[in-house]
Amino acid sequence: MPSQPATVPCQYKTGRTLGSGTYAIVKEAIHIKTGQYYACKVINKKLMEGREHMVRNEIAVLKRVSSGHPNIVTLHDYFETAHNLYLCFDLCTGGELFDSICARGQYTEADAADLVRTIFGAVKYIHDCGIVHRDLKPENLLFRSKPERTSEIMIADFGLSRVMPDSKLNMLTEVCGTPGYMAPEIFKKTGHGKPVDVWAMGVITYFLLAGYTPFDRDTQKQEMEAIIAGDYRFEPEEYWSNVSETARSFVRACLTVDPESRPTAEQALQHPWLAAEVPHFVEKD
Ligand code: ADP
Ligand code: MG
Repeated sequence: MPSQPATVPCQYKTGRTLGSGTYAIVKEAIHIKTGQYYACKVINKKLMEGREHMVRNEIAVLKRVSSGHPNIVTLHDYFETAHNLYLCFDLCTGGELFDSICARGQYTEADAADLVRTIFGAVKYIHDCGIVHRDLKPENLLFRSKPERTSEIMIADFGLSRVMPDSKLNMLTEVCGTPGYMAPEIFKKTGHGKPVDVWAMGVITYFLLAGYTPFDRDTQKQEMEAIIAGDYRFEPEEYWSNVSETARSFVRACLTVDPESRPTAEQALQHPWLAAEVPHFVEKD
């Protein structure tokens, strides 16, 4: 990857749209010389006006974590034109975890545990690099190829991530993220840091096991109040009857309202639900 953005983007030809987010459209792109396929995040400069630092930050973070872990998307190249910024990533052809959950309805407990263990391994790596992701959710978790293999789940979208020195554990205060996955301390504006990623992993785990998210409410205000109060249930019973107490206790730990009492990524990996050698569970405890 060049240290300075190149200004010649015509080395790539863009194709179909793979997905889109708040500021970006991600397109399939072929590197003309090599015939290699990539995913190209096209960011409109006008839309980002005044927020260019967000892209610079995303690139800086990706430079730190990309290529360092098998479950984090790799940034290959970046360049700009008069109108757009382009970030070129390894192409993930397996789609978003979000679509995989929707297609399956819900994951079996064993599959969920395997997936959560793999993602948490990458979260621990990110945290060890001094970075907090802040936008972990199934739309930002991609399968490298099809059929979707657990070992090939990739953390993407470092657009909201921050470098977080250990000396300043909870220094971030801006309210950002995706409401259903945001930790109580983000709404409370009491300062936040790495524990917000563990909370989001709790929401993701709940979603995998149940097929729906824990804090879904009629209005955003009610959703926020439920999050701040940690008000969620393992209900309706029909969705939870096959889920073990060990899995529930894992979700409960990640969804601890007080960030100081919430496990770290390392501690989460040591929880019996993830730490157990095969089989993780046999029957409901
Ligand atoms: P935003 O910051 O706008 O949310 P993302 O980086 O999350 O942008 O990308 C938006 C969507 O594009 C993702 O949710 C995903 O569907 C798709 N996408 C992103 N990166 C890749 C990739 N490397 N391979 C395939 N699809 C991708
Ligand atoms: Mg995204």
